[in-house]
Amino acid sequence: MTEKTLILEIVTPERVLMREEVATVVVPAAFGYLGVLPGHAPLVTGLTPGVVRFRSGDGTHRLAIGGGFMEIAGNKVVLLADTAERAEDIDVARAQRAYERACQRLKRRGQDVDELRAEAALKRAVARLKAARQ
Ligand code: ATP
Repeated sequence: MTEKTLILEIVTPERVLMREEVATVVVPAAFGYLGVLPGHAPLVTGLTPGVVRFRSGDGTHRLAIGGGFMEIAGNKVVLLADTAERAEDIDVARAQRAYERACQRLKRRGQDVDELRAEAALKRAVARLKAARQ
């Protein structure tokens, strides 16, 4: 690792999705998208469902995450995410179905629908569609 890079680690309850040297990373923090460069001050913050972008030696990459937490410490960025998928691994048709299902549920608000769950599913689906299509 050089002074111009940082280690990006993305962990879900299922697996360590990646641990790579990157030049920059942009994450969907609870208070808005946050760009992280080498030498960033230590930080712990929440993450919302959204798109993570990072730049490494072989170009710019995208992932979808379903929310979680981020810790920045000593030139290492750790994302503890509920779910995470690289853009190229996203099943777009599945995400589209999840999106439509969640929209249908939200239209039936109050009729025995778990709104928070439907809203969370909608946000995950939107993040996946954005990451896959951008
Ligand atoms: P679905 O209703 O399609 O299962 P979901 O949002 O409820 O969507 P999650 O509970 O967030 O799914 O994820 C379950 C697992 O499936 C995780 O491992 C997640 O990475 C994976 N996953 C979910 N949707 C997709 C997708 N569209 N493409 C690739 N992997 C997916």
